[in-house]
Amino acid sequence: MSFELTFPDGNKKSIDEGQSVLDVAKSISSSLAKKAVGATLNDELLSVDSTVNQAGHFAILTDADELGLRILRDTVAFLFKYVAKQKYPRIALGESKSDEDGFFVDTDQDNQIAVGELPEFEAEMKKIIKNGLPITREFVDKSKLVEAFKDDPYKTSMLKDIDAVQILAYRLGDFVDFGYKALLPNTGKIKEFALLSVAGAYWQGKSSNRMLQRIYGTAFFKASDLEADLKRREDIKERDHRTLGRDLDLFFVDPKVGAGLPYWMPKGATIRRIIERYIIDKEVADDYEHVYTPVLANLDLYKTSGHWAHYREDMFPPMDMGDDELLELRPMNCPSHIQIYKHHVRSYRELPIRIAELGMMHRYEKSGALSGLQRVREMTLNDGHTFVALDQIQEEFGKVLQLMMDVYHDFNITDYTFRLSLRDPNNTDKYFENDEMWENAQSMLKKALDELGLDYYEAEGEAAFYGPKLDVQTKTALGNEETLSTIQLDFMLPEKFELAYVGNDGEEHRPVMIHRGIIGTLERFIAYLTEIYKGAFPTWIAPVQVNMIPVNLDLHTDYVKEIKHALAQKGIRVQLDLRNEKMGYKIRESQTQKVPYTLVIGDQELADQTVTVRKYGEQDTTTVSVQEFTDQILADVASYSRD
Ligand code: ATP
Repeated sequence: MSFELTFPDGNKKSIDEGQSVLDVAKSISSSLAKKAVGATLNDELLSVDSTVNQAGHFAILTDADELGLRILRDTVAFLFKYVAKQKYPRIALGESKSDEDGFFVDTDQDNQIAVGELPEFEAEMKKIIKNGLPITREFVDKSKLVEAFKDDPYKTSMLKDIDAVQILAYRLGDFVDFGYKALLPNTGKIKEFALLSVAGAYWQGKSSNRMLQRIYGTAFFKASDLEADLKRREDIKERDHRTLGRDLDLFFVDPKVGAGLPYWMPKGATIRRIIERYIIDKEVADDYEHVYTPVLANLDLYKTSGHWAHYREDMFPPMDMGDDELLELRPMNCPSHIQIYKHHVRSYRELPIRIAELGMMHRYEKSGALSGLQRVREMTLNDGHTFVALDQIQEEFGKVLQLMMDVYHDFNITDYTFRLSLRDPNNTDKYFENDEMWENAQSMLKKALDELGLDYYEAEGEAAFYGPKLDVQTKTALGNEETLSTIQLDFMLPEKFELAYVGNDGEEHRPVMIHRGIIGTLERFIAYLTEIYKGAFPTWIAPVQVNMIPVNLDLHTDYVKEIKHALAQKGIRVQLDLRNEKMGYKIRESQTQKVPYTLVIGDQELADQTVTVRKYGEQDTTTVSVQEFTDQILADVASYSRD
């Protein structure tokens, strides 16, 4: 009997029964056979030694295919298990998976595998790779596997879930494992790999189950790919704002006190204060009026706004104060700013009216989604609402966008994309129903964007419940996409709250609202800045701008204090390191704390009334007068973004 195979380029070939993937590859070309690491037949993954037993779409996988990489990674995971079993015969094996990021293997025993043991494992695995041992594929009776794994509760449980008499298994020496579709046929075919880390993981992901040790690793066909991947991982670790937040003592979150409720330490608070002052000044200069409004309001306010109907999942439960009074922690500031608007009769002459606030709000985010300052439950939004007449939308939108661009320039933010967030018309739970209003708002927003010539992509189902948004999307160090800034067009809330202004015809008219967050929440913005700057904040934001180290505490401390006073008078944030530690240690620490300027002061500096300056990240030092240094740092502060 023979089958017809259809290749990805559309070519067809008839092959005889009983041929393996490798046979088919050989029949095409010997170079393809050399490169083959597996195949897919009608989307089913096959090993090179699998038999091709039916007609269909057939593709040979090589080291250039993502699925080829999966086969390699699964083979490395399999080899890891083999070595683990050799080293610890009683070890139990849980789940094991490969994906585009690498692979993991779950293990369990009394003395769990420590990260320090990984180099030993790697060395042992490399020996076996060098020896080029065969990995064979066979169909084994389920009963035999049940017997073989009777002491392993996880494998036993996995076998229970497989409904088959015979199971595809792979063998290396005495070690047999199942659950793989395809592996490489010989350990000698494994190329570059690394074991990366160890973390706890609950069996089946349930916190009521036992915690296993999850060993993470990755593998590539080329050494240069592995090297680049390890560098990327190192970079992520270096940039992760949670790690930097701890190392630089910026903030902490303690789940025992409250998950998603950050505490800002003095240095983090300094960064926040500088950004708060910056953005308020910037907005006031742009004709915004800054206000303060309460975080608590009567629940009725959020019933009128529609939050209670469409946003309740994200809200904390109301506080019952008795006497039918229910107070709600606000999840957004818009209803509060509407109260400010409504407090006076408004005329068309006043429009646009721009109301802004650093508004604290609370959202009941799912605990699994919380992440450092990135996603929290209590946050302060650089919020603003502008109330405009219909014919002012376009211009006001452009003005908000300009403000956003100016701010991005000052912070040196360059890597972002624009997302036009539209409603999902089928999701009537999330979005209020008024097709005409939605169509109108969405097409107006699109028109504004097109006229500004912005490049954007559309995302259905990402709009706010009251209107479409232009979101500015950035990537976190971990690669997740998050919204940083947002501009939203809203015809609904003015309607619900019956907002009005008196037109030049003497009649009442409805304004339109533009909701906008320029830097977004201070929490997410500072998480983002920490990651893009890798904790080395530009001088104008750095919590400590100058660290001063006297060479001799007895001789030079007075002079150092004098300079500190002079700099502080100019608004420079100076720290003195008067600890009884070695100088080299103090200088190194100043670097790891990423302080922009480290000044070392000894006999010579005292005699000449100078300071020796080392800029962060530079090896060379310069010795200049105190005045010169003051001028230099003031110019640096005034220049904003670090070059
Ligand atoms: P997301 O889709 O990120 O949950 P959203 O679309 O609900 O946000 P908006 O109501 O548009 O958010 O919020 C305005 C700004 O608030 C966002 O641009 C973002 O900067 C910030 N933000 C939203 N949720 C959080 C959170 N849980 N933690 C920190 N910042 C947040």
